[in-house]
Amino acid sequence: LILTVMAALASACSRPQPKEALPYETQVDSLLSLMTLEEKIGQMNQYNGFWDVTGPAPSEGDASMKYENLRKGLVGSMLNITGVEEVRKVQKIAVEESRLGIPLIIGFDMIHGMKTMSPIPLAEAASWDMEAIEASSRIGAREAAAMGVNWTFAPMVDVGRDARWGRVMEGSGEDPYLTALIAKARVKGYQGDDLSDPLTIAACVKHFAGYGFSESGRDYNTVDVGTTTLYNTILPPFKAALDAGARTFMNSFNDLNGIPATGNSFLQREILKGEWGFTGFVVSDWGSIGEMVPHRYAADGKDAALKAAKAGSDMDMESYLYIKHLKELVESGEIEESLIDDAVRRILRVKFELGLFEDPYRYCNEELEKEIVGQADHQAGVLDIAKKSIVLLKNEGNLLPLQKSGLKVAVIGALASDKDSPLGSWRGLAETNSAVSVLEGLQAYPGNTYRYAKGADLVLEQPVFLKEVKINSSDRSGFAEAIQAARSSDIVLAVMGENGFQSGEARSRSEIGLPGLQQELLEELVKANKKIILVSMSGRPLDLSWADQNIPAIVQSWHLGSQSGNAIAQVIFGDYNPSGKLPMSFPRSVGQLPIYYNQKSTGRPNDPGSDIVFWSHYADVKNDALYPFGHGLSYTAFSYSDLKTEKSADGVVDVNITVTNSGPVSGEEVVQLYLKDHVASITRPIKELKGFQKISLNTGEQKTLQFKLTDAELGFFDGTGKFIVEPGTFTIWVGGSSSADMSTEFTLD
Ligand code: BGC
Repeated sequence: LILTVMAALASACSRPQPKEALPYETQVDSLLSLMTLEEKIGQMNQYNGFWDVTGPAPSEGDASMKYENLRKGLVGSMLNITGVEEVRKVQKIAVEESRLGIPLIIGFDMIHGMKTMSPIPLAEAASWDMEAIEASSRIGAREAAAMGVNWTFAPMVDVGRDARWGRVMEGSGEDPYLTALIAKARVKGYQGDDLSDPLTIAACVKHFAGYGFSESGRDYNTVDVGTTTLYNTILPPFKAALDAGARTFMNSFNDLNGIPATGNSFLQREILKGEWGFTGFVVSDWGSIGEMVPHRYAADGKDAALKAAKAGSDMDMESYLYIKHLKELVESGEIEESLIDDAVRRILRVKFELGLFEDPYRYCNEELEKEIVGQADHQAGVLDIAKKSIVLLKNEGNLLPLQKSGLKVAVIGALASDKDSPLGSWRGLAETNSAVSVLEGLQAYPGNTYRYAKGADLVLEQPVFLKEVKINSSDRSGFAEAIQAARSSDIVLAVMGENGFQSGEARSRSEIGLPGLQQELLEELVKANKKIILVSMSGRPLDLSWADQNIPAIVQSWHLGSQSGNAIAQVIFGDYNPSGKLPMSFPRSVGQLPIYYNQKSTGRPNDPGSDIVFWSHYADVKNDALYPFGHGLSYTAFSYSDLKTEKSADGVVDVNITVTNSGPVSGEEVVQLYLKDHVASITRPIKELKGFQKISLNTGEQKTLQFKLTDAELGFFDGTGKFIVEPGTFTIWVGGSSSADMSTEFTLD
């Protein structure tokens, strides 16, 4: 029979294709016509490679069933199975032992690297460097592909405005414009120009949609947002990823305005597959079809399968409800077989595009696996983006950079010698303790002496993914040594923040200060030595307000991946001039959350400059962020001049700005353009990022940059999802952060 299939496919290939048809449509149709209903449903079923760990196995609760079901053609995809040997084993059963020999698509969460770790995605967003992000995504894709994976569950493009939500580490921050550009760069990095290249993998844009707006930043919580926020803030990054060619989407755990995303026809059928014309497939989030029962949107598993399939969820990840119930639902007429056909077509299409039918083992090459995984130049690549991801938050009295010799440096904090935390959450298959620690990075500058003292443990027990984190060690016995080291040194480098698993999925926090004893230790260190630098290593914006008032220099290092310590040391000693800019506002207090620069105006203006007496404010904290979106310092200074706008006949507004490096060293600047629409038919944000360019300038060098504002930048979506551009007055600001004050105005007729 496999021969029959091959013959059917071959004759389909030689048939002329209709002009506008998708490239593999005839092959997909031919194959579909040979499939039984059960085999079709099998394609919509994804199995987990960790069965033995997570058990029970699908269907009968017997791990051996996995092979049985593969043989029966009841598995379309597997996740969490990696390594050429393992992948080959299951692929071989699917291809050589099942009736139709349809290859599996193998998925994995390659989020910021496989073995060689890039910075966490939020950190990379701080680079504002699309080429570097694309290159970093390519490194991860190459390693994943070489290990048999052909599909990554990334990029996550959920806009995140609430630092309590642990998953902000996986996204690109609070701004839809920046997130959209990064989404494109990542899709290009994963998928390359040709999906059938065995070192590219299919992207999966997630989580569709609204997950970043989980109420109060509590993971999996409900989402209730209006349509103007949905259209203007949540959806644009998904659309951008789709336009960049993303071939799959993942839906989401949350409900959105009353309907779980997984059972949401409006999102999946009307918008994604309807209006946007998406031809790839949607996979559910882990068990999210089954979760519609506890959501109380489905009565039981069968009802959940019915609702998810009808709403356009094409593949079931980890609920095993499609394989259990869809056949019966079709036979009873509750679901039309054409819906099943549509889902299967989508899945087969992507498998064809990946070249899996041409060669199911194209991702199973032991030689390539040996050569590519952990390849030396991948380390250089992740070091490059790690340096670019660091944000210099504060540098009073130019305490940084440090001189490279003759200094006695006290290096304090459990994170300073930690070789594991920099790998961050969602770390692929990175080896435990494989990152370069800060201490090791510093030791590459042997002209200084370094005295390390831990001070206190951060966590009592190494937490693991999704398990309870036991934080807050209460053992202060190491304080004295740390204080003594601070006292007897010229300078103190305190490395503090979050352990690699204190942010990420299921890691929401209600307090976002330095966890455990770190704050207390920091306060003691400042008493011992005023020359202190805080390296803040975290997966989210922390509340650094005390540090801001008491510490002269603060470096936001995030979780930077394999090369973390080297990147940090190069910034500390000025071998790399920091160029990162915050992709998320850092709050003054957790009570300000959610806080984001592109907030709406109110009837009681949000800024104290207003002459309305009862302006919208808190009685105990300022309105603005401690460090706003787009903020980031350099060891040099950039000055801005000659901001001009000019309208061309075709309605495009040209903006010109001259930027000069007026400081002592060469450096890179992210020149940012923000726009405000004064009066509109819906209330609009006080400003919005609408363009940026990252440039490099030598000392004294000057560049004139041009930005073009077209309808895409000037317009917005109304509450029905219609894109409109309205006449009126606009203000633009250009500068090095969202608080830049150089501005000008123009009008549109
Ligand atoms: C996460 C997804 C992830 C999936 C598979 C879920 O818990 O929400 O983002 O892709 O697990 O690991």
